[in-house]
Parts: sequence; structure tokens; C-alpha cells
Amino acid sequence: MRKSRLTKFREGKVELVVPSLPKVLSKKAEVFYNPEKEFERTISVAFLRALRKKLGRRLKILDLLAASGIRGLRFATEVDGLGKVYLNDKSEVAYKFMRENLEGNKSKLRCEVKIFNEEANELLFSLDEYFDYIDVDPFGSPNPFLDAACRFLKRGGVLAVTATDTAVLYGARKRACFKSYFSKVEKVPFMKEVGIRILCKRVIETGAKYEIALRPIFAHAEKHYLRIYFSQDLGAERALHLLEQCGFLGYCKSCMRRYMWLGFNSEEKCKECGRKNVVIGPLFLGKIFDPSMIREMIKQSKDDRVEKLLKIALEESKLQVPYYYLTTEFASKLKVREPGLGTLLSKLNKHGKATRTIFSPKGFRTNLKIEKIIEEISHLPFP
Ligand code: SAM
Repeated sequence: MRKSRLTKFREGKVELVVPSLPKVLSKKAEVFYNPEKEFERTISVAFLRALRKKLGRRLKILDLLAASGIRGLRFATEVDGLGKVYLNDKSEVAYKFMRENLEGNKSKLRCEVKIFNEEANELLFSLDEYFDYIDVDPFGSPNPFLDAACRFLKRGGVLAVTATDTAVLYGARKRACFKSYFSKVEKVPFMKEVGIRILCKRVIETGAKYEIALRPIFAHAEKHYLRIYFSQDLGAERALHLLEQCGFLGYCKSCMRRYMWLGFNSEEKCKECGRKNVVIGPLFLGKIFDPSMIREMIKQSKDDRVEKLLKIALEESKLQVPYYYLTTEFASKLKVREPGLGTLLSKLNKHGKATRTIFSPKGFRTNLKIEKIIEEISHLPFP
């Protein structure tokens, strides 16, 4: 390898070498490494520590689309109690760098690490081994890898799924969403949660085909990616129970009301103002946060930013409301100055429950009706 074209990074305990990154990072990079996703990978380290604690066994991990190997190497150097970590990428260049990075971090490894240079689905079927955790972090949609990945999880194992086709899942490319996820999507203020829930539906229905229940236990989203962790269980009944928690969301652009309908009954018109609802779905309407897992992740996290995010998610997990609101929505709809989130939350909490959301710094989740939210905002002093 020519040294002039290489760049070194340090992430967590790992020293990483990759070919110099292009100015605009895309899948054309020789070996994909996005330093901006360090935070997301740090969350996955806290998650894996928590999973190890919860399952109480030595974990076998597969980083199915590993590129430089960064995530799997972080697991192998930062998480105690792992049995084996496998890293795989079909790109020969990625594989070469993965090997180099494995070599460069050998002294810090806390478990055995094996590397592979295979097409992901072929690897899963040829290995025919079962894993406690499989990470699927593709370019774009995870669809091509879901069927195989969900079949090689051990009982109680976790499938972590990233999607970067956010234009599709957040409502900018409606027809593509229908094609890839068989869901109707619209651009709404709570689009990150819509994207999460559409992908949940897709993963749950994939598992259900094989009588595997894939229950979402943690999820987070940013502008360019979203990521969901699913806990695996076996049985047609459990899979069916998750499918039964899929349905539709309605959003009235006129009066900002949100609705949820389980199953395949949705209503075209807003019950209150009679205007046409925007209807989104089918999508998953059940819980996306498991409080016991989040509490364990908080204990295991060594990063203040991760801890802050997890504490917000823990509060959100107490509310069974599959959408959030933005302070900016109310400012533009009510023609008032944007309410300060802290002040608004303390007002709302006098009448019901309201919390911040990890999906937006201007977002909040509440069990209060829209009339009450509007009333409280109308009475707020200007910030
Ligand atoms: N997980 C990595 C990280 O945290 O930096 C990033 C992975 S990158 C987004 C996706 C990787 O998947 C690329 O390195 C690409 O070569 C690999 N890939 C794409 N299709 C694949 C397939 N069918 N089988 C195996 N690897 C594949």
C-alpha cells in the first residue's frame, strides 16, 4: 500500500488506517469510513456491553458489512466478555485494510477476531453459524440482507440494522418507499420516527416469514441515517403479535392532529376539522424503546453524550405515543414566536406527561391532546 494515500484515525481504542477519504464521502470511496458516525458507533459499544450483561454469556458477533472494520474492532477492543468477533466485506480493498487494521490493533484485542472477504448473504449461508449479534450497516437500504441475517441469530440475539436511504424513509421519495418498504410515506414534522417505524415494519414482517419475532428495543435517527436494534425470539405467535402492532398514522396538516389506527383501517378525514388526513403506513406502532435495556446501556456507557441521549430515550419509553411534535410546527401554524422547549415542557407536565425526544432537539413527545398543547403555547410568554 502506498503510504501517501493513507489517512490515520483514532476512534475509541482503535487506531485506524484507511485510504485518504474523498472530499464528499460516498460509496465510491475506496474503503468507506465516515468519521461523523463515531457517535453512532459509540452508542453501539454501550449497547453491546449492555447485551453482554443481559444475556450473561460470551457473545459471538458478526459485523456483516464491516468496510474498514472499525465497528467490529471497537467491539473487540472495548467490550469485555465477547467470545468471537467476525468482520466481513465483499470488497477486496476493504478486506486488505480490515486485515491491516486488525494487525495494527492486535495488542488491544479482548477476544478472537476473524475476517472474511465474502458476499454477505453467501457468507451467512456458507458459515451456517449462529450469532448473538449481527450488525447490518449497508449503503442505502438494508433490505438485501434482512432475510439471511435474521435467520442466523441465536435465541435472544440482536439484529442491529442501519438504513441510509433517508430520502426514501423520511418522505422525499414516496414511490421508492412504496417499492422498497411497501409503505406509503409523506413528509411530516415527525419524519424521523416515521422512517424508524416503516423500517421496523419491514424487519418485523421479514422475521415473521420464518416464525422469528424481531422486537425493536432501541432506535435512533439523524439526517443521513437511522438505526434500530431488534431482539430475536422464536415462534409464530410472537411474530404475529408484533405484526398486529402495525397499522397507520394520520396527520391533519390543517389542525396538526395526529392519529393512529391499528390494522388496516385508516380514515381519510380528520375527525375534528373534517379536512383530508395525510395517511402513512403500514408502519409499526408499538414500542421502540425497551426501558430495561436502556437503563443497562446508561450503566455501561462511558460517554457523556451517549448518556444524555439515552436518558431522553428512557423518558420517551414511558409514553406510548408513536409520534412527536416540533416547536417550530406550532410557531408557523399559530403565527407565534417559537416556544422555548424547556418552558413548554414544564407547562405541559402540569397537565399530563411530556418529554424531549432523541429525534429532534426541537421535538417533544406527549400524551396531551393537541388542544391542550395549543392552549399552553398560546399562554406562554415570548421567549
Ligand atoms: N460498517 C462500516 C462502518 O461502520 O464504517 C460501514 C459499512 S459501509 C456503509 C458498507 C460496506 O458494505 C461497504 O464497505 C461495501 O463494500 C460492503 N458491501 C456492500 N454490499 C455487500 C455485500 N453484498 N456483501 C458484503 N459486503 C458488501
